[in-house]
Amino acid sequence: MSNPSIWFVTGSQHLYGPEALKQVAENAGIVAAALQQSAHIPVDVVARPVVTDPEAARAVVLQANADPMCIGVVLWMHTFSPAKMWIGGLTKLTKPVLHLHTQFNEKLPWSTIDMDFMNLNQAAHGDREAGHLHTRIGLRRKVVAGHWGHESVQKRIGSWARVALAWADWQGAKFARFGDNMRFVAVTEGDKVSAEATFGFSVNGYGIGDLVAVVDGVSDSDVSALIDEYEVLYDLAPELSKSGARHEALRYVARQEAGIKAFLDQGGFKGFTTTFEDLHGLDQLPGLACQRLMAAGYGFGAEGDWKTAALLRAFKTMEAGLEPATSFMEDYTYDLTEGGETVLGAHMLEICPTIAATKPRLEIHPLGIGGKSDPVRLVFDSKTGKATNTTLVDLGHRFRFIVNDVDAVDVPAMPHLPVARALWKVQPSFQDGVEAWIYGGGAHHTVYSYNVTSEQVRDFADIAGVECLVIDASTNLNSFRDAAKWNEAVYRG
Ligand code: MN
Repeated sequence: MSNPSIWFVTGSQHLYGPEALKQVAENAGIVAAALQQSAHIPVDVVARPVVTDPEAARAVVLQANADPMCIGVVLWMHTFSPAKMWIGGLTKLTKPVLHLHTQFNEKLPWSTIDMDFMNLNQAAHGDREAGHLHTRIGLRRKVVAGHWGHESVQKRIGSWARVALAWADWQGAKFARFGDNMRFVAVTEGDKVSAEATFGFSVNGYGIGDLVAVVDGVSDSDVSALIDEYEVLYDLAPELSKSGARHEALRYVARQEAGIKAFLDQGGFKGFTTTFEDLHGLDQLPGLACQRLMAAGYGFGAEGDWKTAALLRAFKTMEAGLEPATSFMEDYTYDLTEGGETVLGAHMLEICPTIAATKPRLEIHPLGIGGKSDPVRLVFDSKTGKATNTTLVDLGHRFRFIVNDVDAVDVPAMPHLPVARALWKVQPSFQDGVEAWIYGGGAHHTVYSYNVTSEQVRDFADIAGVECLVIDASTNLNSFRDAAKWNEAVYRG
């Protein structure tokens, strides 16, 4: 989006007279300008005229709905704004909402405070009137409380803005599937019609032969340009270098990368899936191409996993402008040392190099499945630190997000494992975290991110109106299991 913005909508009423309303508008402008200038908020924040009656409330909502650049609306009741005047507007709102519960003054002026001050600065109860109505009409929204000038508050608004940006990016987004999902697999199946109705993106299949034609049509000079880029960004195995015995295999994957990218860009696709069971006409299972295209911001899911492809794209949007660190991931194997259990995450090939701790190595090795030539791939260890694993599953009649806070730890040397990998400990403990994930029906494929937080995943799910189960340091397994059951009644709809 060229210039996405959040609308800052302040509520009041006429009861206090024109002088007070003038002050409200001035203060609202100052708050919006501060948020606009905040380094923590990645989009424009635009102050709208103060809303004082039902007609204005309805008008601003319809304008927000109609403006494609408006990705969300911040609501704040500077004074008391009787909430019935908001019903006609807010029941029609289609954009994400953040209710900012703040006050213009940080500190109370103890020695001068009078009733005029009290009447002007009454968000403390004006926002409660608003919140009551929001709850009563079922308005899904993020509530952020605290002074607007505080960095912590601006960070939370910015974090939500990133979520709203990803939601806007999903609306009308297109994802291409090359082949179906891996045969007989349950969790990568799903209802693409329901997904489009719920999330706003569409998923459609394309013949592998059509992709092969584009790949084969890539020019030699485009291939050479990519090889030059690889030489700068990665350590090449000697056999892949220009004088190496297997350099032609590297030229082929460069051709594959350029071809897939051209196919996606020509069709306006924001992500794609591949499957090793449908590669007719391709010489290698795309490994490096998927890794590089993820790093460029495209969504990707292996084995036809379109839900994870779409989710990865959403995360890539959420981390825009930050140092990117998000990948397609799979819980591959465990170290079950008692008390020190870790998950080794990897895939056959397709892990995004944005999570690499060091310069990736470009290598070529045999692959036991797929029946194609040895695929080229980037091999690296991933960063340490706090991360999240997120899954989006289709329960048949509805969708569910599950997000798990994890702690990525140092990866021991594994000289015989020729794939990119990450190693992490799950919160709140291996036993409770993994058992909760399995009770929740979470997939083995995830989006793994060092930037996107479980709070953001929950906010994202809430905008979609979809359940989100959070597994973090505070998770109690019994409560988690109960919530998952109770949610069945809440979300069945
Ligand atoms: Mn897989």
